[in-house]
Amino acid sequence: MSVAERSAREQRIANAAAVVERCRKCAIGSIRTNSVYGEGDPCAEVMVVGEGPGETEDKLGRPFVGRAGQLLDKMLLAINLPREDVFICNTVKCRPTLDDGVRLRNRPPDPDEMANCRPYLDEQIEIIQPRIILCLGAPSAKSFLGPKFSITKQRGQWFEGPSGIPLIATFHPAYILRLTGGEIEATKRLVWGDLKMIRKRLDEPTAANAAQPTEQIDLFG
Ligand code: URA
Repeated sequence: MSVAERSAREQRIANAAAVVERCRKCAIGSIRTNSVYGEGDPCAEVMVVGEGPGETEDKLGRPFVGRAGQLLDKMLLAINLPREDVFICNTVKCRPTLDDGVRLRNRPPDPDEMANCRPYLDEQIEIIQPRIILCLGAPSAKSFLGPKFSITKQRGQWFEGPSGIPLIATFHPAYILRLTGGEIEATKRLVWGDLKMIRKRLDEPTAANAAQPTEQIDLFG
């Protein structure tokens, strides 16, 4: 990736994040503390897509920085992907909340909110052009693959995502944190298997990698 391409992507991401910050298409756009555009390497091979920002993310304006985020960092590191090397975002960029009269609680994004935010997600994919999209949890996977997607039956399988980008889903780290007893180890084993599939795919040579030796032979030949 050339320095010029990297800085062009950084600029586009900064511009898009500023648009999201001004967005008031949904009511939650006016209630939130900060929009959470997403963060990471603009040239990342892996784009991680979660559901929506929670309380900590809303406070800090950054994705996956609460307890689920700490587990996500560990999951990624387990396959040699430091957090800084991927791009992390969500299906919606504002925290969906429910006022229970005492405090604002997290809730899943509703279909209108996901639809309003979709152009921002599509633009992120278009800018970053990841090799792999990793969906965390059913709502994220369903937003790409449709309402029939089953996280229990179809996680750990490759699908064709937007622009033909390989897409895979695994359990959301917040779900893993809520598990108790024997379910924890069994679920972690499944997630580990899903993550290893990502590592394997990343380690496969790409057209770009395969072209490198030829270029060097030309240079020194
Ligand atoms: N859960 C999500 O889906 N996204 C975040 O950014 C944090 C928690």
